[in-house]
Amino acid sequence: MSSSSKSRPPAAAQDFSTRAVRSGVQTSNFQEHSEPLFLTSSFIFNTAEEAAQVFAGEREGYVYSRYTNPTVSVFEQRLATLEGADFCLATASGMAALWALCMCVLKPGDRVVASRYLFGTSVALLAKYLPRMGVQCDFVDLDDLQAWEKALDGGAALAFLETPANPVLQIADVPAIARLCERGGTQLAVDNTLPTAVQMRPLELGADWSVLSATKWLDGQGRCVGGALLGSSDKEEAAREHMRIIGPTLGAFEAWIFLKGLETLELRVQKASETALLIATQLASRPELEQVYYPGLPDHPGHALAASQMDGFGAVISFRLSGGREGAWRFMDATRMLSITPNLGDTRSTLVHPDTTTHRLVSPEEKERAGIAPGLVRLVVGLESERDIMADLERGFAA
Ligand SMILES: *Cc1c(COP(=O)(O)O)cnc(C)c1O
Repeated sequence: MSSSSKSRPPAAAQDFSTRAVRSGVQTSNFQEHSEPLFLTSSFIFNTAEEAAQVFAGEREGYVYSRYTNPTVSVFEQRLATLEGADFCLATASGMAALWALCMCVLKPGDRVVASRYLFGTSVALLAKYLPRMGVQCDFVDLDDLQAWEKALDGGAALAFLETPANPVLQIADVPAIARLCERGGTQLAVDNTLPTAVQMRPLELGADWSVLSATKWLDGQGRCVGGALLGSSDKEEAAREHMRIIGPTLGAFEAWIFLKGLETLELRVQKASETALLIATQLASRPELEQVYYPGLPDHPGHALAASQMDGFGAVISFRLSGGREGAWRFMDATRMLSITPNLGDTRSTLVHPDTTTHRLVSPEEKERAGIAPGLVRLVVGLESERDIMADLERGFAA
């Protein structure tokens, strides 16, 4: 393998759009233009001495695809440049990335402070698996800065949050929480699955780690499962060692899908967000709706904060229908085009009823606190036209 510009020196600092299609490219001796897919578990050496040198880390080279593969490396390098990180570790899923983060940072006796409003399985990981290794996790309200301050004053090795939170889109003040973390020597990790590098770069906002599910927007067409963990160079060794020893490896095929997905990420996220803003604005004046949640609406409590730390407001809109669960289900069943599925970040718009699906295991008190009412429906806007999405929502309202 060699760098893409054998005879020409690499161009200086490039814009996001350019990095998304050009960074990380490694051209083989065949001089291919598109990134090849290296389906090989191991790599060969020319001599026994060369093998010894690569194993000893004295010479660069690929060894074994549990921890190094050229296709996976291209994906990692490209995503790292987009997130403003020194390194990226690609993992088999978003959950594997979160677990790798915990293993890199935590030891028995440590404490974690996390947002109450996380992806459901992330809550399960923190609440159920961390205690097994002697780590306690306390949960706070994402948008309550005083609660963060109080919890962090108790000392913590790691703080973890997701903003905007799914499904009612509370917004965290990431720079302020990062300052509180720094004061107490706490490492801050942000789940960047929803905004993606297009709309938010947690490391630029002061976080120590960005962790994400590539399954959603990075793939963008609902095909593959994967994740990533990103940070500064001082953290890379621990992360790579986790991959080498524990092995939650991303397959080369999935990495290839994701790296090609990164090339259109900006176009997709921007288009879906623009459509979402148009739809949310129309929904805000519908008499059928008790409440519309979208951080791009000026009356959303986190609007100014979202505008200050994000480039765009995302494609997730939630709204509460009158008539509770029955009203929500009748609405969803009357649509004809929107897909009823929990996935998000797809080309196709999706609808889900959080109360009875994604959040069904959450206790009634927690649901009330989180705003997950029986009449709540979550819409994630895809790439269909605004007119056709609105027409389908109208079918629901008519019912
Ligand atoms: C899907 C998701 C995850 C978990 O990712 P997987 O790839 O499904 O393991 C974590 N966080 C958020 C916000 C998600 O949407």
